[in-house]
Amino acid sequence: MAITAYHAGKPQPKPDSNESNPSKVPTPAAASATPPVAKPIQPDSKPKPTSPAGAPGFTKRAIEPSRPGRHDRFARNNQRRDRRPFPGSQPQNDRPRGPQSMFQTIAGGAMPKIDRPRPPKKRMQQSAQTPGILLKAGPSEQPTRTYAAPRNTLRIIPLGGLGEIGKNMTAFEYNDDIIIVDCGVMFPTEEMLGIDLVIPDVTYLVENRHKLRGILFTHGHEDHISGIGYVLPRLGHVPMYGLPLTASFIEGKLSEFDNEYSREKVNRIKTGQKLKFGVFEVEAFAITHSIPDSVGYAIDTPEGLVIATGDWKFDHTPIWGEPTDFKRLMQYAERGVLMLLSDSTNASEEGYTISERVIGEKIDQIFDRRNSGRIVVSCFASLINRIQMIVNSSASHGRKVAVLGRSLERNVPRAHELGYFNAPKDILVDKRDIGKIPDDKLTIICTGSQGEEYSALVRMASGEHRDVQLKPGDTVIISASEIPGNEHAIHATIDNLFRQGADVLHGRELDVHTSGHGKAEELKMLLSLLKPKFFLPYHGDYRFLKAHAKLAIAAGVDPKGIFVAENGSVIEIKDGVGKWGERVPGGYVFVDGLGIGDIGQVVLRDRQAMAQEGIFMVIITVNKQTGQLIGSPDIISRGFVYVRTAETLMAKARSEITQIFAKHAKEKGTMDWEFVKRAIRDDLGEFLYEHTQRQPMVIPVIIES
Ligand SMILES: [Zn+2]
Ligand SMILES: [Zn+2]
Repeated sequence: MAITAYHAGKPQPKPDSNESNPSKVPTPAAASATPPVAKPIQPDSKPKPTSPAGAPGFTKRAIEPSRPGRHDRFARNNQRRDRRPFPGSQPQNDRPRGPQSMFQTIAGGAMPKIDRPRPPKKRMQQSAQTPGILLKAGPSEQPTRTYAAPRNTLRIIPLGGLGEIGKNMTAFEYNDDIIIVDCGVMFPTEEMLGIDLVIPDVTYLVENRHKLRGILFTHGHEDHISGIGYVLPRLGHVPMYGLPLTASFIEGKLSEFDNEYSREKVNRIKTGQKLKFGVFEVEAFAITHSIPDSVGYAIDTPEGLVIATGDWKFDHTPIWGEPTDFKRLMQYAERGVLMLLSDSTNASEEGYTISERVIGEKIDQIFDRRNSGRIVVSCFASLINRIQMIVNSSASHGRKVAVLGRSLERNVPRAHELGYFNAPKDILVDKRDIGKIPDDKLTIICTGSQGEEYSALVRMASGEHRDVQLKPGDTVIISASEIPGNEHAIHATIDNLFRQGADVLHGRELDVHTSGHGKAEELKMLLSLLKPKFFLPYHGDYRFLKAHAKLAIAAGVDPKGIFVAENGSVIEIKDGVGKWGERVPGGYVFVDGLGIGDIGQVVLRDRQAMAQEGIFMVIITVNKQTGQLIGSPDIISRGFVYVRTAETLMAKARSEITQIFAKHAKEKGTMDWEFVKRAIRDDLGEFLYEHTQRQPMVIPVIIES
């Protein structure tokens, strides 16, 4: 099912210093025949599933859930816009994104790379897999293959988050037990036309469903939780664990789906609580990030202690929640850390990340200065800490808070109900009541910091927002840095906000942004504190992983113990010796509308070809008996040339088609239309290229009459 499943042509990742030793083990086909639903092993402490996602008072209906069943085109576009840039991330480094070019990373590596700009152009051969009008809905099923894991070996299997920022997911396996940490999504790169989301390839886990003991979540950002709604139905009812805010966000995600998993509960856990999953004993430890309830996991395995940090920075003055538990980390270090998996997002940045509290002070100063008019703050919906500071500043300045934007309207009441804001219970007001509150008593938190079409801020900027009309005296704060690629939209939005009469504070002049991820000095500190024998840098583009590996060497980690891996790589540790294992599928699975995994490379490549050069459809009618052409070929062209001004070209093309047809149809003697279509596609493509230096997708259609 998973289209990207197998990396036939993909090389083993180059082990930095390790010998690569993929041993192929013949596989028992029995694995897939086992019952699909894992029998969960109850953790010692038996965390009870607590109350459902919607905390009391919180109505889900009020916030238009993005139900994936909604397939109306506008709604989908709308969702797509709204989701991008993605709320589950900090600005800049944190935004889940694909590699520079998907073609470099995508499974199989078979896609031709189209470089732009590209004079002189070389004619690109249209894919033989593009079967003219017979475009199939999706690629065929991949042959099923089962991977046998060596016994008595700890296997660490990253399935997402390596070589990219997004869709984090890591599996840990020992004999008959597998636990999973996180299950996120990635937002599509520009090349992935029409794709809504990218989720990890879980083929290996599906094949080993009988081994799955639990899914643990580090925190509630989208790149760590949002894949679960798509993945859980494939894995079965595997028990899930997370701290309360995380658990609540996950349940919110699941409830957007309309299936038997939509009411699945997540077990609420606490830091320090021990959970047993087969041979694994796991505990969550507090580590600071940009959202409350962020934890890392210490995983006791028969081979030794493995630490997976999740996303982190050392914030000694966190806005909310527990500070990093250094005492615990010291205890782990004393016991000896076999392997560390650590956040690489800011590995290339020198120094330390500044505390969120500094940001809080800056926001407070702005509130001090603006004592008339409304304050509108735009930021990412999952930056709960940032939102908290805005709410706190509002509370201390006697302002009520209204939230606008789908993801915010979902997250904020949830976090507030769970007690994550130090603010009066009634501080949140409904957006419909905005008009009833005096201007200097109101703060509006909204989405749209990246100038996303359809976002609340952009609607306000264009004067089209239903509930808010900006006016002189209002202040708009954009509390997010510009994600590369969005500058245009952001600047246009800022211009429009000024046109509405509002004062706008943004970007450098404001400096109200910090990252949620530790920089080089912090990363080194953790490495030298824990002194792991093996190290797997994760959560980051490949160059960040490499930078993190360098930091590890500087911090005294043996270079032989460092694994710079890719998604689907397997690291095996047995008797204290670590090596690369046989790869498992680790490519992209695309979500497009209702389809999960049905869009493959072929379809994407076609979308690209059409987007870049247009399509050129040729319709030929032939006499079934004689095989002769009836009339002149019809041409339908879109996005290639404007047909009315290219009459000459069209006439030439028609006669060219007739000639090609005559030549090939006669040549074969028989009516092998597939052959004729291929000939038309190739020869006409050549002809069009010669005349226009463009390569539209040529789609020949032959109708027998
Ligand atoms: Zn995060
Ligand atoms: Zn993350």
